Parts: sequence; structure tokens; C-alpha cells
Amino acid sequence: DWNQLHADLHQIDGSQYGAYHQLRGQYHHVEPTFTLSVDRVQGDPYAPPSQVRCIMPWQETGLPNDYLASDIRKVAACDLITRVAADVIRERHMNRGIGDGNVGWSGPKGGAFNINSPGQEVLPRTSAMIAGSETIELRFTVSLPAAGRRILGPQAWQILGINLVEMISQSLLHRNLHSDKLREHVMSVERQHALRAQLLPRGLIAFIANGSILPRASGAAALPMDSSNAVPFKSPKEAEVSLTCLDGSKVQGMGIPRGITLLTGGGFHGKSTLLEAIELGIYNHIPGDGRESVVTDPTAVKIRAEDGRSVSAVDISPFIANLPGNKDTKTFSTDDASGSTSMAANIQEAMEGGCKTVLIDEDSSATNLLVRDQRMQSLIQKEPITPLISKAKAMYNEHGVSTIIVIGGLGDWLTVSDNVILMDSYIPRIITDQAKAVVERYPSLVAQDTTYGTLPERKVRLSLRGFKSPHATRMNFIGIRPQNQSPVDDPAQGEAGVDLSGLDQMVEIGQTRSIAAMLEGVEKATASQALPLSALLERMDSNLGLETCLPVSLFGGDRVAVRRLELAAAISRFRGLQVHD
Ligand code: ADP
Ligand code: MG
Repeated sequence: DWNQLHADLHQIDGSQYGAYHQLRGQYHHVEPTFTLSVDRVQGDPYAPPSQVRCIMPWQETGLPNDYLASDIRKVAACDLITRVAADVIRERHMNRGIGDGNVGWSGPKGGAFNINSPGQEVLPRTSAMIAGSETIELRFTVSLPAAGRRILGPQAWQILGINLVEMISQSLLHRNLHSDKLREHVMSVERQHALRAQLLPRGLIAFIANGSILPRASGAAALPMDSSNAVPFKSPKEAEVSLTCLDGSKVQGMGIPRGITLLTGGGFHGKSTLLEAIELGIYNHIPGDGRESVVTDPTAVKIRAEDGRSVSAVDISPFIANLPGNKDTKTFSTDDASGSTSMAANIQEAMEGGCKTVLIDEDSSATNLLVRDQRMQSLIQKEPITPLISKAKAMYNEHGVSTIIVIGGLGDWLTVSDNVILMDSYIPRIITDQAKAVVERYPSLVAQDTTYGTLPERKVRLSLRGFKSPHATRMNFIGIRPQNQSPVDDPAQGEAGVDLSGLDQMVEIGQTRSIAAMLEGVEKATASQALPLSALLERMDSNLGLETCLPVSLFGGDRVAVRRLELAAAISRFRGLQVHD
């Protein structure tokens, strides 16, 4: 029990740091009742901090049982609890030194406690999890204190014996939580989940509620733009649909139907901002984000040019054929893809992974993969590239894959679009009819392929050998650029096994950790034979009912769920992926 913790810390006081290993195991606390499980103990004061879990019986929390009613409610409640714990830690740490009450909240490398801190998205996380309806578990790290290499027993007791109990009480006990805020969080997430589920039956791929605040505070911030500057979203009447919330109330907004949608308009009129909101509409957002009623087809994938990426035996023949030197494009491999080949591979791989909506912005595209106008068609006969404009209709007709594309200056796309939205000073207008009239006046002869072509179906094997040097942490072998940040300028990432910086729909570093853990799973699963990518993805699926994967193991409270599509994208980008047929 808890006295044992006190006794153990007293006993090792002043010993060599390694004696902290004796803490491994479990300690039970009463009032409130919970179990501290010390799972991994750091070897020295500057090593990565020690990993602990605190497990509390659900009844003890006093939280209403209706939060257990569904997976989505559990995920939402746990997400808020992680945020509360992160706030408690941050506040106590920041106020250190002011009075005695804050002793022991700071450690050698910052805070004594550290919990994975969430961004704007509500996601399944290993930092807080509910097991069945019995227990709730909080996972975080603790920096165990030392003077030089000697254990500071009393300080460790202050941290583990006293402050930890306060942190647990503040973040898990209902009476200490802001219950209105918790309820609003859970209900908002449940509502978003329900809105998203209405898309498919209504023939929609995205919905943006009236009043949504889409722009962000800056290019590097995920927080909403100040409400005095942001123009709230307003659907044009022709595109307005009304979705039903769980309580029967209605929410109005713009519905984007399946098929091909063109987002157009002058520069700086908000096209990319709208597309970015749609990209992240695959996730639920925290109340106050501004995008909490923007929902998107959960299989939607942002496609961008990603020159330099590695491509392993992908069939890109619908878009690229007859390369000089007869290079095969049905099993196309390269260590250094061009803008157009990377984009072709990205589309084909997304479809291989189950994507039904592709999202494209001209700002991040290779123009030659989007379009080839009539003059170039007649001038250049030996063109290996068939642009997307010639495939988009067949892609939809044969495979049911819709396109939303942002284009300001390529008028040929008007001929293939079912739906044309003009962004005019951040307000959308439907101009499909005007666009048709323009096409009649200025006809363009864009070649349309009647068939799409073949899709990749790869059997893969993956070996991480060589990417796991004893000194390399997980982050070293995977380069990542978190959402809205410029590429990390780190030469070590030049040798990264997987570069995820081209995946615009990854929002948290914890998702990278999940992918790293799942790549180890993929390595194991394919150790004896190659497996179809689709079968691999099935295996990695979790039971969260959210079509996301979250690799849960005893260790690590810092993982965040990713979609199977991002896992597939990571596998596809792995340098040295073996593909068999
Ligand atoms: P485009 O892609 O059409 O060139 P962007 O989406 O990049 O335009 O937006 C241009 C600028 O306008 C950005 O700085 C963005 O933050 C801002 N912006 C976008 N939408 C809104 C809005 N609804 N209200 C206020 N500012 C906005
Ligand atoms: Mg733009």
C-alpha cells in the first residue's frame, strides 16, 4: 500500500540512482482508491523519464455511467481527462516556487510529470483509457529526482506520494472536474460523430455548418482566428442541407455531394482554408475550435505532390505509361519520385487503402498531373502522363472515388466538374450553371478516358533492420512534420526510414509514435511471408469502432490513434519496403 511507497523511498534515500528500480511494481492508495503501477524506471536522471500508470475503479471516479454508453463517449471523456491532467501539470509546474504548495512539480528536464498533451482534435489516446466499464487508467511519465547520481528520497515522496495523488484527484474525480465542460465535450464529440455518419446515406462527402470558423490564428497555429477577424462560414442556399443531431435538433450548412467538386475563386479568397478544414473533418474537434461541425468522409485523403518520396512497386499506369526507356509503370519504384510520379503514386496508394474521396489543392500539386491543355496535347505527342482531369470521371464512375479540387487558374477543370463552388471573400457561391455556360462559349477539348485503369494490389514485407540502431529512438527513424509546420531541418532525417512529412492529415506527434509501433507489428506479421496490404490493415484495426488504430501496450502513454489510411501511407513510404506479387 501507500505506506510501502513511503518506506521504499526512505530506504533508498541517498543510494545510487539505479536503486530506483526497486520501485517497479504496484502501490495501492486509498481515498481516493487507485493503483499506481510503476512500469519502467529510468536508469539515470537524464534518461527518458519513468513510465507509470494510475488505475482507478470507475465507481471511484463518481463520473456518470452514461459516459460508458459507447466507444465514442469513452474516447471523448478520456480525451478531456487527458487535457485536464495536462493543465494541472502545466499550472503547478509554472507556479513553482510560489509558496510551498508547488514543491516537487518540476524535474531535471522541465516538469516532474509529463502527459501527452493534445491539440485541437479529439482522438483515442493511450494517455487515458477506459477498460470495459470497470476502470479508468491515466498514463504519464515521472522524472525521479536526484542530487548528482544520488536518490533524493524525500523529494521523490513529495512527487510520487503527494503530488501524484493530487494530480490524479484533480483529473479523475468527478467532483473536481468541471462537469459542464466535460459534458459539453462528450456531447459535442458524439454529435460530430453522428453528423459524419449521415454523410454517406445522404450522398455527401463533406458538410460545413453555417457559422463555422475555418481560418486559423496563423499559418503555424491550429487555434481559431480571432472572431473579430474571421468571417463565419455561410452556405449558399442552393447547397444548403440540414443534418439531424442526436437530440433531434437540426444543423444547417453546405453539403458537398459525391462526384467532382471544383473549389475556385481569386487568390486569398479562402479556398485553401476551406479545403484544409475539410481535410481535418475526418477528426472530431474540441468545442470552441470553430470546426466542430465540419465533417468529412472518414476515408478522405489529401493528395499532394511529394517529390523525393520513395515509391515501392506501385502501379501508376492509369496516370503514367510509356516512360522513356520502357520503364515499367505497373510496378513503379523509385527512391526519389518527381512531383507528378509522387502524386500519381499517392492517388493509387490511397485507393489501395480504401480512400473514397481525394482532396487536392493546386498550391501543393504538380500541375502536369492535374491537367494538360489542348495546345500541349497537340504539340507533345509522346507524353507519358495522363492527367487527373482525364481520369477523374472514370475514377468516380468505376471506383466511386470523389474528388474535391482547389483550382484558381485551370479552366479546363470546369468541363469535368459536377459542382463548382466559388469562394468570394470567404463566402462560397454555387456557380455550376455559369460554369456550364462558360464551357459552352469557350469549349475545351479535354481528352476523357472512359476507363480508369488498374489499381495496385501489393503484397508487402517490411524489415526494420538497419533502422533501429541501439541509439536511435523511435523518432529518429521516422521523420515527421506535424500539421502546419515547415519541414524540420534536421540532417538526421535525411536517412529516415519513413518520411511522413507529406501527410497533411496527421495532427499529433503521438500519431507518429503509433505508426512506429505498428510498423514493428507489420514487421512481425510479415516475418515469414509477404501479406496483401489490405489484409495487413485489417489486422491492425483496433476495436474502437472508429476505424482508427491505436497500438496499446503496457508501455507508453504517448500514443495517439491514426487511421488505417495513414498507416498504409507510412508503409508505402518505407524505404526498403519489399513488394512481392
Ligand atoms: P486561397 O487559397 O483562396 O488563396 P487562403 O485559404 O489561403 O486563400 O486564405 C487567404 C487568407 O485569408 C489566409 O490568411 C486565411 O487565414 C484568411 N482567411 C481564410 N478564410 C477566412 C475567413 N473565413 N475569415 C477571415 N480570414 C480568412
Ligand atoms: Mg490557396
